[in-house]
Amino acid sequence: MGKAIPERQTLGRLIQMMPRRHTLRGIIFLLLLLMLGDLIAITSVRAAGPTVALSELNWDYRWGDLTFTDSKPDFKAVSSEWQPIGFPANPPDRGEQQYVWFRTTLPDTKLSAPVIFVTSINLNVEVYLDKQIIYRFGQLDPQTKKSFMGWPWHQISLPENYAGKPLYFRIYSDYTDIGLWGEAKLMERSDMLLHVISSGLHELIVAAFSLLVAFVTLVFALFRGTKKEFFYLGLFSLATAGVLIGENLAIQLALPWPLLKTYLAAISYFSMPIFIAMLLYYWLNGATGSGLLKVLAQFHLAYLLLAVTVSLAGLRNLAIFFPVFDALFVVSLLVMMRVVLRFSKQVNLSQQMVLGAFAVYAIFLLVDMLVAHSFLPWVDFPIAIGGLLFALVLVVISIRSYVHTNLAMEQLNHQLEDRVSERTAELHAYAEAEQQRRQELERENQFIAELERLNVDLQSCENLDEARELMRARLADIFKPGLVQVSLDGDTIDTLPDAQIRLAQLEGGSQVLASLTLVSGHEMLPKAQLEDFLRRTSQRLSVTLGNIKLREDLQRYSFEDSLTGLRNRRFFDDALARDIQLAKRNQSPLSLLVCDIDHFKRFNDEFGHDAGDAALQAVAETLQQYFRESDIPCRFGGEEFVVLMRDAVLDDALAKAERLREAVQALDISYRGEKLSHLTISIGVSSLSDRDTDAETLLRQADQALYAAKQQGRNRVISADDNPNRDKQVKG
Ligand code: GH3
Ligand code: MG
Ligand code: MG
Repeated sequence: MGKAIPERQTLGRLIQMMPRRHTLRGIIFLLLLLMLGDLIAITSVRAAGPTVALSELNWDYRWGDLTFTDSKPDFKAVSSEWQPIGFPANPPDRGEQQYVWFRTTLPDTKLSAPVIFVTSINLNVEVYLDKQIIYRFGQLDPQTKKSFMGWPWHQISLPENYAGKPLYFRIYSDYTDIGLWGEAKLMERSDMLLHVISSGLHELIVAAFSLLVAFVTLVFALFRGTKKEFFYLGLFSLATAGVLIGENLAIQLALPWPLLKTYLAAISYFSMPIFIAMLLYYWLNGATGSGLLKVLAQFHLAYLLLAVTVSLAGLRNLAIFFPVFDALFVVSLLVMMRVVLRFSKQVNLSQQMVLGAFAVYAIFLLVDMLVAHSFLPWVDFPIAIGGLLFALVLVVISIRSYVHTNLAMEQLNHQLEDRVSERTAELHAYAEAEQQRRQELERENQFIAELERLNVDLQSCENLDEARELMRARLADIFKPGLVQVSLDGDTIDTLPDAQIRLAQLEGGSQVLASLTLVSGHEMLPKAQLEDFLRRTSQRLSVTLGNIKLREDLQRYSFEDSLTGLRNRRFFDDALARDIQLAKRNQSPLSLLVCDIDHFKRFNDEFGHDAGDAALQAVAETLQQYFRESDIPCRFGGEEFVVLMRDAVLDDALAKAERLREAVQALDISYRGEKLSHLTISIGVSSLSDRDTDAETLLRQADQALYAAKQQGRNRVISADDNPNRDKQVKG
């Protein structure tokens, strides 16, 4: 992933450096247009003046050099040795000969600026007209070392009065060929220049095009290190351009260094098989048999270096390396063809196109070779078209590769963008989930803290009523921002509650203390979490509230008589001691009633113990009805009751006792629908009179008064003051 961006930048730079696709197309179109115009020009260029091909003249040749007197050849001395020949080149039976002479008589053609134009001469030449030297190229003196001077075209100017005069060529060659080569014409000077320019121009255009393609391809190869094929293709295109420039006719008008041109042609030409072999080697990618291609490339590189160094050192003429190379090249081409045919199924379309172009180009080169070595008659063979074809193919596959690369990059980019947005979305979702989780945790912590605070406060409540008030005030708040309705017992609710706080009853069963109903959640606090909170709240608070209830129950049951609901004797003992203290301190009155049901044993016996219990409850109820809030009726034990009357003097207490007695006597007691007989009670009343009267004394006096009431016939009230047996020891 990390690599993609730099690669893209590199490609971007490459694209900026490369001509745009439409620019390339434009260049190709322009060049083709020029080529077309050029071809029309070639065919339409007709010599304005008369032209005579040298092959039309009668020629004689003579092997070996003539003798020279005073630096002038002796033409007459050996006239018998001259032999006729059709064209002044390669006479038969050469043997070891390095000198040859050719002669003819110039025709009577009307030319105002006559020149002889020869495409090429092997190798050094002197031209004599009318026994006077008129042209020399290279060294011919037998005593002097003769070096190779290149293969320029020759323009041999003639004087106006050339007609009918003898023309001699003295030629030296240590090359395979000797004599004139290619075109050889007698013509007007202006026609010759036009011919040279027009025939060279189309080759120059192709050469320029090849150079451009080579440049673009090499730049392409430079920035795409992995595509070595473009490197070799670029170099091959460069070599093509080199050959075209090296062999171009028109260039000579501007650059008069024929040897330099020949070196350029030689180096370019000799390096061609190196690049082809390396390209094929690269394509076959180490397949068996491909090693041969590498060897071939190395061999041709060695040959190139050898040819250049040996010729530059002057050990051998550069010219002689050409025919040897041609032979080697033919063999190399055959070898490469064989290897390629073996792997022809593995090559892709681009490679097929390149191979096709190579094949066509190779045929062009072969034909050119055959012409050069006179196996075929001389023709102005359009070798440039082979180069052009190759360059065009190169442009096409470069564009193809560029387009493919661009598409692949685009696709890669899309994939990357997709992946990045996917990842971003994932991360976003993850972050959101995390944040939600954090908020939930925070919310939960807050809830737990508030629940605990309420719980602690509830624990310090004295009783359930206090706890209820606290819950009414605060319970709903701990669920905020959720909305929860809290109903405490006694409140009515319409809906089914989501959670309840229940308290177990000592009597059995359970009591609903509070009902919690979920009204609505909140975006920060969803319903599911609220429901969980409600559950946990009811569990937690039930324990605390249960404890409060237990405490309350225990308290109540330790001071209460379970049958009648009146205070029990323990409570009475405490209250009596406390009230006597208070009364003494405040100097306020205090009276005590001791009541006992008459003949209750009999009642029990007659109606049963359960009916007895019901009777006890009925009497207890009457007691509670008849006394003020501040008076304290208690069950003293069995069928005996006591009433502690605060702030009541003896007379008031007696009156109250009398009314109580009457009320009990009038009390209708029924049990299971059956009416029972009426009961009566006897009451003894005592009052706090002396400063030193204590609880025990007060109780004893009341008890003795009760005893007296029983003695006197029951169903009556006796005051301790009236009791004749007061403070006597009473039995029973
Ligand atoms: P007296 O008029 O002399 O008081 O006669 P009495 O029968 O009421 O007195 P006694 O002391 O001989 O009998 C008291 C009876 O009260 C005995 C017992 O069966 C009955 N008693 C005491 N406590 C209860 C109770 O809680 N329930 C019932 N049903 N009877 C009780
Ligand atoms: Mg009794
Ligand atoms: Mg009794």
